[in-house]
Amino acid sequence: MKKKSVTVIGAGPGGLSAAMILASKGYKVDVYEKEKIVGGRNGYFQLGNYRFDIGPTFLMMKHIVDEIFEITGRKSSDYMKFTELDPMYRLSFSNDREFFPTRNKTKMKNQMEKLFPGSWQGYEKYMSREEKKYEKLIPCLQKPYGTIRETLNPNLFKAAFYLDGHKSLFRYLGKYFKEDDLKISFTFQAKYLGMSPWECPATFSIISYLEHGFGIWHIEGGLNQLSSTMAKVVEEEGGEIHLNQAVKKIIVENGKATGVILENDEKVTSDYVIINADFAHAMNNIVDNKDKNKYTPEKLSSMKYSCSTWMMYLGIDKVYDIPHHNIIFSGDYKKNVDEITRTMEISEDPSVYIQNAVKTDPTLCPEGHSTIYILVPAPNNFSRLDWDTHSAKFREKILDIVENRGGLRDIRDHIVEEKIITPNQWESDHNVYRGATFNLAHNIGQMLYFRPHNKFEEFENCYLTGGGTHPGSGIPTILESGRISASQILKNDYT
Ligand SMILES: Cc1cc2nc3c(=O)[nH]c(=O)nc-3n(C[C@H](O)[C@H](O)[C@H](O)COP(=O)(O)OP(=O)(O)OC[C@H]3O[C@@H](n4cnc5c(N)ncnc54)[C@H](O)[C@@H]3O)c2cc1C
Repeated sequence: MKKKSVTVIGAGPGGLSAAMILASKGYKVDVYEKEKIVGGRNGYFQLGNYRFDIGPTFLMMKHIVDEIFEITGRKSSDYMKFTELDPMYRLSFSNDREFFPTRNKTKMKNQMEKLFPGSWQGYEKYMSREEKKYEKLIPCLQKPYGTIRETLNPNLFKAAFYLDGHKSLFRYLGKYFKEDDLKISFTFQAKYLGMSPWECPATFSIISYLEHGFGIWHIEGGLNQLSSTMAKVVEEEGGEIHLNQAVKKIIVENGKATGVILENDEKVTSDYVIINADFAHAMNNIVDNKDKNKYTPEKLSSMKYSCSTWMMYLGIDKVYDIPHHNIIFSGDYKKNVDEITRTMEISEDPSVYIQNAVKTDPTLCPEGHSTIYILVPAPNNFSRLDWDTHSAKFREKILDIVENRGGLRDIRDHIVEEKIITPNQWESDHNVYRGATFNLAHNIGQMLYFRPHNKFEEFENCYLTGGGTHPGSGIPTILESGRISASQILKNDYT
């Protein structure tokens, strides 16, 4: 029988997870990527002797990576070296309180009782209820929600009691903890979805549980290694990755996707098309208006999006003794979050994430040097801020915070290489709609059935993967989106 063919638009983790599964099941897979390397936001760049992840630095739910590799008959550990981080991160509050959450129960209990007397019981309650919530919710996230029938699945009914969608995440944590700093320690993870803990549905309390339950991992060489390894598996299975080849349009004939037209006007035909490019960018640029009724430019701009990030990557000729992951919270965290997500302005007192990857991984730069990655959550481009006029001043502010509160004394004297990415550049250089780095928001109105479906609603033989479809943004969920879309194609052909 002739192999069925699949064109994947984009070699981000979502596209590569679907590609490697389908290639391993005998499909002829061709991945077209506009950049010169794979990975998208999960790619890397080199500044002189220093190598940086572009985006993701926290790997959670490593077992999902393992499962995706197992589907292709492989062990992820044969390809990548994983290290679990202990402590998971340093949380630094403006009252000089420093908290180092860890999965080591004894160390965690001692710290909590010292920093937040009487809080351990709340932690135990949190872990025990969230474990049940996780067990009920995960099967729901691994299924498609393309039709009402798929949506009304028994798993969702079983999970209904645990959805907690009507409460905000921050309010919900009040059930376990009294102190605000402690509530922040278990809700700042809403930022992984680019949302405010005061607006994010309490359903997402499972994110901090995932950290405390399963740990946070690093991959040697950076998390970008996940994408390059998945691309390697695609090629081992006979698939092809075409770099520097952007897709211009999806060809739709009689309501069915039949292939794509590349930027060089070459026509590629295939039985299926999978879109991994940023969802709203793809709708505005590679799907013709005549082929879609629902996702018009007006509809797309009326949808809700995550925040953006202002990034600074520094090659440093010294090593600092700080943990791998560090989060320095603003003095008034709620005000800072409101500025990012509601009033959409540049914070006078921002929160800052610092990654000091050489703490775990010496392969990223020469000995005695380090790669410092700084991420500052910022408003997306619905703000209309012109970052060219703000970035220089903002850089100084961030370096002050990093020096005075981050523990990186005199860092300005040790900068050898530097690169900045602003919210505007996420949009112009990385094809991220409105610079919303974590894609569509995860409010109740944009989740499950209400999120763009894995089997694209507008025409046949087209599927979506990546942060803009179900289950949502973040590496493990994005890998799941690839698994769901691949399963739907397999189901279509084999049942
Ligand atoms: C700064 C930052 C930090 C993050 N941190 C984390 C983290 O710590 N942990 C975590 O789990 N998640 C994190 N994320 C979120 C998320 O996991 C990543 O953004 C992830 O890479 C998104 O994957 P994706 O497959 O949806 O899309 P992308 O990675 O954006 O991949 C889409 C691909 O499509 C390509 N493309 C676009 N248009 C075309 C076209 N016309 N033709 C061909 N190719 C095209 C792009 O070049 C890109 O390679 C982070 C994101 C960012 C931006």
